[in-house]
Amino acid sequence: MTPTPIAKPTHSLKCLGVGEGKPCGRRHSSAFLYRFGSTRLLVDCGDGTSHGLIQAGVGPDDIDALLLSHMHSDHVGGFSMLIQSLWLHGRRRRLPIHAPARAIPALKAWMQATILHEDLVGFGLDWVPLTAGKPFSAGAVEVLPQPSSHLDSLQRSFGAVLPDTAFEAFSFQLHDGHRRVAHTADIGRADEAGRLLEVHADLLVTELSHVRLPELAAAIRGNPPGKTVFVHVASEWLSVEPELASQIQDQLGGMPFQIARDEDEIPF
Ligand SMILES: [Zn+2]
Repeated sequence: MTPTPIAKPTHSLKCLGVGEGKPCGRRHSSAFLYRFGSTRLLVDCGDGTSHGLIQAGVGPDDIDALLLSHMHSDHVGGFSMLIQSLWLHGRRRRLPIHAPARAIPALKAWMQATILHEDLVGFGLDWVPLTAGKPFSAGAVEVLPQPSSHLDSLQRSFGAVLPDTAFEAFSFQLHDGHRRVAHTADIGRADEAGRLLEVHADLLVTELSHVRLPELAAAIRGNPPGKTVFVHVASEWLSVEPELASQIQDQLGGMPFQIARDEDEIPF
């Protein structure tokens, strides 16, 4: 008798990199692959993304779009390697890349500097600037970029001397009519996570580096998601993860949560 195959969940998050800005040797930098039915969206592409995708068995033509939340290296450091990997593994489909407007010339220049011309790599790129509050479709998913204040203080300090730098940062709401995800990427204030939850989310994926747990938990309790996944957790928590889990448990009052690790696959 052949065993009944276990059906793969139709909606899932594959964590390719849950690290924070400071590398620690145990976690790759930010990269999250969302599966909404047959649509796959890659959110951010930190160092190690191309390896993670291959390890996860993701084929070169499987990704429907790349979303880049902001230009910190731990979110985009694997970009040119991702393009090189897709080229060498034979991607043929065009790849939409949704990024902060001012990042697009820089990303194009980076491709040129690393000798990745579209005629060479064999697939075209569609560059689309992100606009806060303006939704767009990526495969079967509607993406709503929301503004994040993550880079505001850096803009105040360095905006004048770095006039061409992208200081915009975004969070994302993703939904396909069946499931809804709120993904903070990097935020500046806990209420920005709360705003993403104003429409009920089946899954909240939130950083825990730039915001304090009590404020973040208060925002989550205000509009509870189906499940909260903590990523980009500040490295000082790593040595005391059971303590962090117990504090989250207390703060969220029994609401479902997970502290994600690289390679985790989380259905939603
Ligand atoms: Zn950042």
